[in-house]
Amino acid sequence: MNEQIEVLTLNIPDTDKPRLVIIGGGFGGLATIRNLRKCAFQVVVFDERNYNTFQPLLYQVATAGLQPDAIASPLRKEMWEGADYHFRHLKVLTIDSTTNTLSTIAGKISYDYLIIATGTRANFFGNKQLQQYTLPLKTIPDALNIRSQIMQMLEMATITPPEKQQEFMNIAIVGGGPTGVEMAGALAELRKHVLWRDYPQLDFSKMNIYLLEGGPVLLPAMSAESGAKSLKDLEAMGIIVRLNTLAASCDGQSLTLKDGSTIATRTIVWSAGVKAGIPTGVPDSWIESGRILVDDHCRVPTSPNVFAIGDVALQKSAAFPKGLPGVAQPAMQMGAYLGKNLGKMHENKPVKPFHYFDKGSLATIGRAKAVADFPGNLKFSGRIAWFIWLFIHIAYLVSFRNKLVVFATWCWNFITYEKGNRLIIRPFFRKDDLITSEMTD
Ligand SMILES: Cc1cc2nc3c(=O)[nH]c(=O)nc-3n(C[C@H](O)[C@H](O)[C@H](O)COP(=O)(O)OP(=O)(O)OC[C@H]3O[C@@H](n4cnc5c(N)ncnc54)[C@H](O)[C@@H]3O)c2cc1C
Repeated sequence: MNEQIEVLTLNIPDTDKPRLVIIGGGFGGLATIRNLRKCAFQVVVFDERNYNTFQPLLYQVATAGLQPDAIASPLRKEMWEGADYHFRHLKVLTIDSTTNTLSTIAGKISYDYLIIATGTRANFFGNKQLQQYTLPLKTIPDALNIRSQIMQMLEMATITPPEKQQEFMNIAIVGGGPTGVEMAGALAELRKHVLWRDYPQLDFSKMNIYLLEGGPVLLPAMSAESGAKSLKDLEAMGIIVRLNTLAASCDGQSLTLKDGSTIATRTIVWSAGVKAGIPTGVPDSWIESGRILVDDHCRVPTSPNVFAIGDVALQKSAAFPKGLPGVAQPAMQMGAYLGKNLGKMHENKPVKPFHYFDKGSLATIGRAKAVADFPGNLKFSGRIAWFIWLFIHIAYLVSFRNKLVVFATWCWNFITYEKGNRLIIRPFFRKDDLITSEMTD
């Protein structure tokens, strides 16, 4: 293997043009690429995945509502044909800002301009047990792990004595932000409309779905009304919501809460926190509050040829003194801003500072149930908010094919109450999970 690594090379041609390297083809990186028309740069994009992920719909993949390829799009498709654009499916290992180079498993590359758009990773706040036994939801493989785990545990329940079935059927979701709320709502619908038909021998009154939130409200980043409405709707759907409740530890069979009580469950979804995915080598002086501090041109103040956008960046303004929210819109808007303006910056032409336009926030709870907060204190809930949510998600999906597939699948699911992707295509095993691995080995 090492011999093979030694012969790897990036194969990026030498150029007289300034080289722009972009790390990350997520919301921010993709918006940059799409706005860099006819640019004077050689553009090199690195991503550890060869596709862009539409993270807002990951929970639907995890709950069998959508197929994974409906929310992913190949990054190579975004490289302008014939232009000096290069994609490498590689993780950037380190950045060396003193030599303006970065390294990958296939070698080093220098940059004239660098855009760091690496997003976030799950944050377990240093709790090793939670990291080992809970399931984060950040990537498509994460979503498939959750889907497989839910289905595998139900299959296990069918071959377990009734008095022991509950730990296989219960599900706990830690974190009552949009991901936790959306996940809980989708699981309640799966239980109500689908699972009892698949598993007639199981008693679904025993299947408890818990949503645990450390703070006093759900959807803390949204209005108090939206938080209260989501709580009311989820409780009406049979979700056990526990506010002011923190997870303390787990052992693969149960979850222990800070108050000492336990929940018997083998499936714990972790949606309680993320941290910026800052590549190794980024100097400490660039970092503030765990993110890369940038000025109003998305630039690292002490290294004007380096930019950070999206979730990894901390851009403070009078309206957002703690930085922009970690959602898709800031990432897309910052990416579009750099894509349009980097050429001018290179030519030392005047460029207006970046201005974030807040378009509001949304969360769906279930069938015809959602909450929406818009600027100007405009709030919607129920069917109207749900239609807005549907429309916006279709509109922002990355390709026409994905829009069509998602729309058709949603129509089918709505009419039939189906969630047809409840497949264990790639079984999920924890290292210590002998029971489930023995089932399929
Ligand atoms: C489950 C979930 C649900 C969400 N729901 C919503 C929602 O409803 N609405 C909303 O607005 N926002 C939502 N968000 C947040 C939104 O997805 C993020 O704010 C957005 O993705 C940030 O964009 P980004 O470009 O900064 O990072 P990302 O989109 O995460 O992209 C980062 C990219 O960098 C790549 N990468 C990272 N490190 C490296 C490295 N070292 N080398 C190479 N490549 C690397 C990754 O593979 C990834 O492709 C959700 C997020 C999650 C996880």
